[in-house]
Amino acid sequence: MTDAIFRRIDDARDDLVTLTQDLIRIPTLNPPGENYAAICDYLDKRLSGSNFETTWIRAEGAPGDSDRYPRWNLIARREGKSGGDCVHFNSHTDVVEVGHGWTHEPFGGAVEGDRIYGRGSCDMKGGLAASIIAVDAFIAEHPDYHGAIEISGTADEESGGYGGVAHLAEHGWFDPKRVQHVIIPEPLNKDRICLGHRGGWWAEIETKGEIAHGSMPFLGDCAVRHMGAVLHAFEETLFPAMAARHTEMPVVPDGARQSTMNINSIHGGQPEQDADYTGLPAHCVPDSCRIVIDRRFLMEEPIEAVRQEVIDLLDDLKSRRANFDYEIREINRVIPSMTERDAPIVTTVHDAIRDVLGQDPSYVASPGSYDQKHIDRIGKLKNCIAYGPGVLELAHKPDEWIGISDMLDSAKVMARSLETLLLP
Ligand SMILES: [Zn+2]
Repeated sequence: MTDAIFRRIDDARDDLVTLTQDLIRIPTLNPPGENYAAICDYLDKRLSGSNFETTWIRAEGAPGDSDRYPRWNLIARREGKSGGDCVHFNSHTDVVEVGHGWTHEPFGGAVEGDRIYGRGSCDMKGGLAASIIAVDAFIAEHPDYHGAIEISGTADEESGGYGGVAHLAEHGWFDPKRVQHVIIPEPLNKDRICLGHRGGWWAEIETKGEIAHGSMPFLGDCAVRHMGAVLHAFEETLFPAMAARHTEMPVVPDGARQSTMNINSIHGGQPEQDADYTGLPAHCVPDSCRIVIDRRFLMEEPIEAVRQEVIDLLDDLKSRRANFDYEIREINRVIPSMTERDAPIVTTVHDAIRDVLGQDPSYVASPGSYDQKHIDRIGKLKNCIAYGPGVLELAHKPDEWIGISDMLDSAKVMARSLETLLLP
């Protein structure tokens, strides 16, 4: 191994900038899931030009997939000269809505100094571009490498990954027999290795009441007051219990190193009217109130205990509060995922970061989740991390940007990792 590969990457700066701008300029908004075919087509042309064999996969039947918004994914594979491990770089191609507060064109890809601006620049088209530049440099420097390299561009990560990595994993694309190492270039900062993420459990809780005239509430039963009792019990019991639980996972930021729960929404009584509606509400006692909870949990907490804790609290209310009745409906669940620190991809990228940046990386885990869950739980492939350029806190924000020097540095880390894994 020499520094020749680093020089190649520095020389590819202009290519990297253009590639990143091109990717930003394809507005792959999710929802609804626009332009997936366009971005797959772009990646197909680029990677076919580097002698990758490409496969298009549509996640038919996945949530959101339709002929108008097909969930297209692209996998590109390039075999080496002889057998060996396969290293896979997985990037999601979708971006979240633009939102307000931009001073740059969201899909313009403007360059200012060291920054490229645009929705998806940081999360995660900059990471995708860096991985392509890294792979190009590696192949040019070591045309006789062993094993295989894969690059995938996948749909729908921002909405759970069911039209993307989950679908590919279900169809064997992440089988450990065909892929041995996975790097997901999400924006976790170039000097950090992300080992995994917390779990999530989403549920809707409904309290029941009885409708009556609002002037005689004693003739009905107010579902909103019952929900008030639920929220009170959460405040008194559940939130303090969660705050007392701490994890061995290196979750960042610090506030997420404990169990957390968000009350995502609350609604009771008549539907809200449009803002321009000038009528007055009718006087009714609400017979239903619903909340959606977003409970994030730790490796140390079994999902069944997370669920049971909420149900016990509701059952306790039922036993002591007159006329209290509820229903609970699970919306979704994600089990925590965490790669061991001595896994080959972790030690490889660790050493590469030290080579490139001259410092040891820190290990982190994500407070939310990303596509590693599907590679781990469905694909049964454990040797997976997130590592890529970009400042995590910029993701989904207005004036999102990616640093060109950060992309170059992380491309060097990825290229050096390929040298470790695919050279004799
Ligand atoms: Zn992302």
